[in-house]
Amino acid sequence: MMSESKDKTLQKQEGSGNIVVLYTMVAQGCIECGRCRKACRFLQANGMPRGFAEEALAGRPDLRGVFACSLCGLCTSVCPQDIDPAAMFAEMRREAVRRGQGRFRRHRGLISYERWGGSPLLSWYGLPTGCDTVFFPGCSLAGTRPRRILQLYEHLERTIPALGVVLDCCTKPSHSLGRTRHSADVFGELVRALQADGVRNVLVACPSCYTMWRDYGGKITVRTLYEDLAGRDIGGPAQYPATVTVHDPCSVRNETHIHEAVRKLIAARGLQVEEMPHHGTTTVCCGEGGAAGCLAPQFADNWGRIREQEAAGRRIITYCAGCVHLLGRRTTVSHVLDLFFDPDKTLADQVRVARPPLTWLHRFLLKGKLRRRLKPAIIGRRGADGRVRMK
Ligand code: SF4
Ligand code: SF4
Repeated sequence: MMSESKDKTLQKQEGSGNIVVLYTMVAQGCIECGRCRKACRFLQANGMPRGFAEEALAGRPDLRGVFACSLCGLCTSVCPQDIDPAAMFAEMRREAVRRGQGRFRRHRGLISYERWGGSPLLSWYGLPTGCDTVFFPGCSLAGTRPRRILQLYEHLERTIPALGVVLDCCTKPSHSLGRTRHSADVFGELVRALQADGVRNVLVACPSCYTMWRDYGGKITVRTLYEDLAGRDIGGPAQYPATVTVHDPCSVRNETHIHEAVRKLIAARGLQVEEMPHHGTTTVCCGEGGAAGCLAPQFADNWGRIREQEAAGRRIITYCAGCVHLLGRRTTVSHVLDLFFDPDKTLADQVRVARPPLTWLHRFLLKGKLRRRLKPAIIGRRGADGRVRMK
């Protein structure tokens, strides 16, 4: 079931050799300057990265404790020593799983959500004749905003006539929870099936999906649809002289090309962007990262508090449906796709976004709508054994 090329990287991570290298790099390189700790509530409660590494090298790794880290990467971004504590914490989670210490009851809901996303009921692959590019909307957008998926398809197919669509889960939750082998098997199967049918490019909406395709997508090239949309004649109304701010999802903190594309889409509607202190490469997590909120809501919630304070009453525009949901509990947040397609309702807070259990129904019904719209030559879905079958 394993695909080739980059999925081998995921398999390599199954060995324990990586982790000793990471511990050693952090233990030797960290000068305990405190910059990362100042930025992060998890580190304030648990000590600096060097302490984690030294304890681990002494045979006392806190493998369960690191599941309270959001894996947001801010520590890595602010480190003057070019150390990557976030990579060490992610690897510690994998080590926990390898040693059978990575199971938590509170992760069950997330694992189940992922499993349903890649189930025979909700997965669907539609490839028109000559298709070499697919749109991969991800689980969250498909459930909360199915109409946007159809609008996006119509918009994109103007310049990509044989555009396909794939509804499936990228398995980022498993990847974040250290379940690397599972993630490699399931995502690798998706990549293998698309490569075998001639797909070479994927357009994604979700930043988490982007990182999975970027890191493990084999020969398939990934791009966000924000870059695609920003590169076209955007058109539409541009008469909204309001001021907004932008939340960059932490999973794409280093992808400046995506940050720029989103700001271009916002500017195209006439809106002025005022940046928050944490943006771009130093953005903060929304609170959802690494599923830390399942085990340590006090740390995860702190990121949301920072965002609320920094937004200071301005509308936040972001490009992750999960971030919209989390931050929307605290302050006014809009998805850039809502702004792009429906600026009047978005700026009047009249966009209707589905919530569970309706999101499940939407995802199921979306398959039929796409099938009628695409009339695909090749249709696929996952079987109960996890394999993708195309015919
Ligand atoms: S929560 Fe973010 S900043 Fe804090 S240790 Fe984890 S990855 Fe680093
Ligand atoms: S920012 Fe870097 S050097 Fe400073 S305490 Fe954190 S890991 Fe160590």
